[in-house]
Amino acid sequence: MSELSIVNHPHPALRWKSRDVTRIDAQLKSWVEQMFELMYAARGIGLAANQVALPYRLFVINPSGDPEERELEQVFINPQILKRNGSETGEEGCLSLPEIYGPVTRAERIVVEAFDLSGQGFEMDLSGMPARVVQHEYDHLDGVMFPDRMDAADVPEIQPLMDDLATQLRQHQQDGSVPSDAELKAKLQRLQDERTG
Ligand code: ZN
Repeated sequence: MSELSIVNHPHPALRWKSRDVTRIDAQLKSWVEQMFELMYAARGIGLAANQVALPYRLFVINPSGDPEERELEQVFINPQILKRNGSETGEEGCLSLPEIYGPVTRAERIVVEAFDLSGQGFEMDLSGMPARVVQHEYDHLDGVMFPDRMDAADVPEIQPLMDDLATQLRQHQQDGSVPSDAELKAKLQRLQDERTG
């Protein structure tokens, strides 16, 4: 079983348009378990597969961010947002953009359908924070990051921090501790070919 870790901007997985998962097996369940652990360790409330360099349409959330409140955990596999209503602006952060925050306008209320880990379909009507988290994670599956959704006037404020992250990744690639973008993309393609239709 491969070990996962959270990748930071501008890892190519964060720009990958992921495909639906075609089978839920022990490997996938293990990945989901690891994603929850990584999310709690990083004090997050949601984590998408793209953020652990897995090119599949799935994400996990726990709006409480509290590992003691496992009953609030929800896994979304092959999700679809069916309805979006209203709009609300709120501050967002992202585990792949550490210490970067900015205002994002999202639908205030959504209806989302997905499959859970047992392969059961479900539908949820969400508003407030859970609706925001789901829209944020859903975007990751299309390679969209929250700064892409920010008002262009607000982006210059966070740009230097994003540039610092890019410099860090390029340095790791130069010293050989992280593979090149071409190698990372080849791995994403291989993983995608393994378990999507
Ligand atoms: Zn994020």
